[in-house]
Amino acid sequence: MTPAQATCLADALVIGYAILEQGGPALIAVECTIGLLEQSGLFNAGRGANRQLDGVQRMDASIMEGAQLGAGAVASIEGILHPITAARLVMEDTPHVLLVGPQATKFAQHCQLAPLPKARSPRRNTGRDLPSASAAQTMRLYRAMLQSQRTGKDQHGTVGAVALDGFGTVAAGASTGGVDSMLPGRVGDSPLIGCGLYADNQCGAVSMTGMGEGIIRLVVAKTICDCLAAGKSPAVAARQVLRMLVSRIQGSAGALVLSPDGRFAIKHVTPYMAAGWWKGRGKPTVRGQFP
Ligand code: ASP
Repeated sequence: MTPAQATCLADALVIGYAILEQGGPALIAVECTIGLLEQSGLFNAGRGANRQLDGVQRMDASIMEGAQLGAGAVASIEGILHPITAARLVMEDTPHVLLVGPQATKFAQHCQLAPLPKARSPRRNTGRDLPSASAAQTMRLYRAMLQSQRTGKDQHGTVGAVALDGFGTVAAGASTGGVDSMLPGRVGDSPLIGCGLYADNQCGAVSMTGMGEGIIRLVVAKTICDCLAAGKSPAVAARQVLRMLVSRIQGSAGALVLSPDGRFAIKHVTPYMAAGWWKGRGKPTVRGQFP
């Protein structure tokens, strides 16, 4: 983790906590925390989002609160600075849970959400820029993807947050630019409720990072919540499900897990996971690894 990322994470924790301290809802604390990370350009979300193999940034985000099980998400949204806010507006202003692609983008524009600022220099590009999709170009996209899969190069920089407010409500959020070397149109776990995140006041809140393909197949966030509901601690629940992810399908992920009584755990089976917490005293804790 770079010093700039560490400072940004600490600032995001302070902003989220201040909202809770002033009596604000966990949902808004989660949204504002993630919003700062999206805006920073330092993580794989918002300004810093990865590009798909055609050179386009398509982002996924979701948010959920545990009192009413309200949830909203966007997938493959383009040109919007704060996909997490678009997700909250899907939850609050529509009868739906998930909007995708150009229609998600149109919805966010209709809500007058800020656009992604134009990049001054080309951002991290995980593939080749291929503006149109002729058959030959499509073949090149597939070849580029297979080659990069062989190198095993992937980066885990999704941003996420979980919070518990003074009303006893938990919330979780996630926002991402996806993984390295994605085919255009690829959607990961982050906008899928139960996979990339879950929140229920009766068991807790979970936000995931890592290779979405594995997280989706084991419905990881909801599976961790089910373990919490069965009486396991956040640390035990996270460890157990992450181990299963590795042993069953060689998955790779990290989890933020919070129980309704305020116990929490940060666990990962990736070599590295930049994360932190703050309970309002001293300085926020921010680290790159959690045992
Ligand atoms: N989970 C995200 C995805 O698969 C990537 C990440 O966490 O970095 O899209």
